[in-house]
Order: sequence, then C-alpha cells, then structure tokens
Amino acid sequence: MAYPAIRARLDHGEVVLLDGGIGTELIRRGVYWRGHGLERAPEVVRAVHLDYIAAGADVITTNTFQLTRRAYLSQFHDLGHMRRIGAEGLEHKAARLVERAAALARQAREQAGREVAIAGAMAPVEHCFRPDLAPPPEQARAEHRETARQLAQAGVDLILLEAMNTVTEARVALEAAGETGLPVWISLLCDEQARLLGGEPLSTAVAALEPLGPDAILLNCAPPPDITAALRELVRGRRGPTGAYAHIGRYDPPSWKFTFFPRFTGTEAYPPARYLEQARTWVELGAQLIGGCCGTTPDHIRALRAGLSGRLGARS
Ligand SMILES: [Zn+2]
Repeated sequence: MAYPAIRARLDHGEVVLLDGGIGTELIRRGVYWRGHGLERAPEVVRAVHLDYIAAGADVITTNTFQLTRRAYLSQFHDLGHMRRIGAEGLEHKAARLVERAAALARQAREQAGREVAIAGAMAPVEHCFRPDLAPPPEQARAEHRETARQLAQAGVDLILLEAMNTVTEARVALEAAGETGLPVWISLLCDEQARLLGGEPLSTAVAALEPLGPDAILLNCAPPPDITAALRELVRGRRGPTGAYAHIGRYDPPSWKFTFFPRFTGTEAYPPARYLEQARTWVELGAQLIGGCCGTTPDHIRALRAGLSGRLGARS
C-alpha cells in the first residue's frame, strides 16, 4: 500500500527521503553487532526505525544488509562442517533474522502511524568493498533469489539492492529481486572516478541495468564528493528516478559490518548542516531519492527534511 504513494511522488518530480545508517546507528547506541543486533536488542532496532520515521524519512530500510546464509556458511569449511560443529540452527538463522528485521520495521511503522514504505535491503553476496570475491553469476543469482524471496514473504514494500559493485552481479541481483513482483531500486557503489568498485564505468552499468527496468538507480556507500561525481555521470545515462545516499566517516575494520562513525571535526566531517549542502547539490543534479548511508544519523535526516522541504511534497 505504501509504495504507490512513493511512486506517484517520484512521477511528480518530488524528492523522497530515505533513512540514514542503521548498522552504524545501532553501534553508536551500544548494540553489539552480532546477529545485526536483531536477537539481543530488537527494541533498539525498532527505536532506530522509529527515530528515522520521526525525523521525516518516507522510506525506511530493513536491517538486513549482508544478512544471508552465506555470511554464516563462510565461517566454516563447508555446509557439512557447519552442521557438525556450528551452533544449532545456523543454516536457517539468516532467514529467521530477515523475517524478524522486517517485522521490526513494520512494527515501527505501525507505532509511528505514518504510511512510510519499507525497503528490504540486500547487499552483494560477498563483502561490498571486495568485488573481486563475487561468485559466478548463477551462484549469485540463486543467493539473491533466496534473500529477495525471504524479504518479500516478510512483507516489505520494495527491494533495495545496495552497494552493488560489479555490472554482472548488479544485473543478476536486479533480475532475481524482480522475480518477487515487488518494485526494485538498485544502488551502486562507485569509486572517486565514477567507476563501480569492480572497475567498470558507471555509464556501462547504467546502460546494462536500464533495460531491466529498475524503479530507481541510486548511489551509496561512498563519501559525499565521490557520490556527487558519480551522480553527474548517472543522470546522463538514466531516464527514470535516481538517488544518492553517502556515508560519512571512515571504515574501521576488522568489524566488516559497520564501524563508520560521524567525525564532526576536520575536512571529512559531515555534520547534518554540511551533509544537507551536499544533498542540495544532488537534488540540483536531479536525484529524487535522498538519504544517508553508514555514519549518518536521524539528525542528518531531520536536516534533510527541513532543508529540502521545498521539494519534498506533503508529508504523509
Ligand atoms: Zn554505507
């Protein structure tokens, strides 16, 4: 029910607000990242969604980035090994957590009483910063199909493929997600020269994805200046809606998940007012879906809501 209203706003040239970082926000609130915080701190996950809705997001994203069977399986030699020595139920744990993540987003929507749309987040099947690890396309397709189905069954309104880093995987992920019948947005991860992290020019990616009919093509998980450079390229080749959501701060492994933190000092700092300036540039370039990636907070979304109000249409 929530998506047609979003789609209509896009068709009218309005800007639609996404949420900000989920994983980084959970860590910022002291949640231990294991299991995406879904088992031990579901009330905090729900609170983060609620805070983004209160800040003005029109679309909230499930806490399911890289939440896949592979993420557990890759810690073992193979499936047999996982079954023999792994904790009970690991094989089905990702599916269970995906369902829980979607339920928490739905509960937040009900509690807030605003008709926001819920985007089911999906990631590349391997680490989003390591396109070299991407499996063969048919393997990736099977895994994306599995996750997309789980999200669809869990009741999301659309699927958001995030941080896609190669043309091949972007294509199969888009096709697999499209099989659910849900609208699909696909977001690409670019370097500072408007190339996918896998090395292909963004223009090549857009030309390959356009015929598959994504509802939107976005850019995410890169610093604001890199997003701006890539967006200039994206809008040249794209006919439908585009979007942008940057990360702020720096990646601090080994926790591969999300340890970006906003550093509100120095030239790389993007406190809400400065992030808004970047977002204004994206809107001027034509982007209609604006939000925040790792490190951004409800304060950033609140700043976007206030600062872009002329383009946002009526709040639902
Ligand atoms: Zn990110």
